[in-house]
Amino acid sequence: MGETTVDNWQAVLRRIAEAETKGGRPAGSAQLVAVSKTYAVEDIAPVAAAGQRVFGENRVQEAIAKFPALRARFPDIELHLIGPLQSNKAAEAVATFDVIETVDREKIAKALAAEMAKQGRTPRLYVQVNTGAEPQKAGILPSEAVAFVARCRDVHKLAIEGLMCIPPAEDDPAPHFGQLAALAREAGVDRLSMGMSGDYETAIAQGATSVRVGSAIFGARPKG
Ligand SMILES: *Cc1c(COP(=O)(O)O)cnc(C)c1O
Repeated sequence: MGETTVDNWQAVLRRIAEAETKGGRPAGSAQLVAVSKTYAVEDIAPVAAAGQRVFGENRVQEAIAKFPALRARFPDIELHLIGPLQSNKAAEAVATFDVIETVDREKIAKALAAEMAKQGRTPRLYVQVNTGAEPQKAGILPSEAVAFVARCRDVHKLAIEGLMCIPPAEDDPAPHFGQLAALAREAGVDRLSMGMSGDYETAIAQGATSVRVGSAIFGARPKG
């Protein structure tokens, strides 16, 4: 398992490098966030040992359960929250994550600002945009995204670094990635978290600065 996973990880890094070259982009301009949700510490450790340092988890409690052990071995791990955040988990999220990619409403912005002041910690922040306007999906609507980034900055004094999206599974992802890039330009932020196992090369072609890849590295997750 460990060996296959490391092989998969290397293959993903190669494909990212090829996509950067193809897009005329500098090597290393698209960062790999290895999405380790549902996988156990012993599945994640070989990838960290091989050199991967940036990981993504979608649940606060799961990250709290798994990452202390990994950080003890690899202190420079950078952990991203890529799942929806409830305001009652803001304290734990600020304490646990280096990057929170899913800021998507006023209440969360306010809760994060309060916790960051209280804890003296400043995780980097992204605003999640629901580019497909799917009712069941987290993220602010595209029409409200630019104003929300401005409110985070001006009202809550939060430095928003970039935008993140998860296109609808059944859509061609390219227009969604293009829309996110356009919104980021309009909002004055320059980081774009977009692309997963099935479409990360497309995302890099559209300007992704980080891609979130899980199953292409760790294998298929059990359906939940
Ligand atoms: C699970 C997840 C991913 C990774 O998905 P794969 O298809 O396994 O690469 C990326 N982003 C988010 C927000 C996720 O929840």
